[in-house]
Amino acid sequence: MHKTFGTTEVLRGIDLTAAAGTVTVVLGPSGSGKSTLLRCINHLEKVDSGLVRVDGELIGYRQSGTRLHELSERQILKQRAGIGFVFQNFNLFPHLTALENITEAPISAQGKPKRLVYDRAHELLTRVGLGDRAHAYPRQLSGGQQQRVAIARALALDPKLILFDEPTSALDPELVGEVLDVLRDLAATGVTMIVVTHEIGFAREAADTVVFMDSGRIVEQGTPAEVLDNPQHERTRAFLSAVL
Ligand code: ATP
Ligand code: MG
Repeated sequence: MHKTFGTTEVLRGIDLTAAAGTVTVVLGPSGSGKSTLLRCINHLEKVDSGLVRVDGELIGYRQSGTRLHELSERQILKQRAGIGFVFQNFNLFPHLTALENITEAPISAQGKPKRLVYDRAHELLTRVGLGDRAHAYPRQLSGGQQQRVAIARALALDPKLILFDEPTSALDPELVGEVLDVLRDLAATGVTMIVVTHEIGFAREAADTVVFMDSGRIVEQGTPAEVLDNPQHERTRAFLSAVL
């Protein structure tokens, strides 16, 4: 993938495969293009060149012969509903309860039967440790609880892939652990996840692949042991020594 904003090339030929059921942790300094990469994956940003496929399906385009035709907004929204996105600052709907935040998209965007959606939402809230807070509004929840609702909301869409953009970096330090616990549980259930985070401990325990990005390129990638304990590139070493 290549992506330019104005005169700045923010993604300079990213080639990344995340195998189904694996956790890919993306590390890199501020401005290296991590959020842009995630946003290009689910077509929130259009790449200048390159293709994204999720479970074999081309995202954002239809291919006929050698030509690409952009999909309609409606088709793109449908594709995006199959790719969860968890943001740094939770992005819950403030006027909806925890439960309603989770049920909104499956009912209105996916047209699933209400009864099933509500049962599943209760199950997911319990899974993230919030079974008793279904009727709380976001303002009545801590940051960690809000982020766990956001994760349950992503899961409710039965996504093929979930993208996390620094899911713990807006949290008070004492709340980071509860969200990482939920991410670890998810990783163990075989959900395909791409996680941008500076939580090296999480990367070490939960990642199948660690990717280090700098200036719009993947500088190195490998297992946590390879990238975190035995980095091959000076830039990776410098980054790790700054965050560890
Ligand atoms: P951080 O760790 O601070 O979140 P990042 O690795 O996620 O950084 P990006 O947000 O992807 O970095 O930004 C990469 C570069 O692209 C930055 O220089 C940023 O200013 C620029 N950029 C991102 N989005 C836009 C945009 N919509 N318009 C113009 N420039 C942008
Ligand atoms: Mg970012």
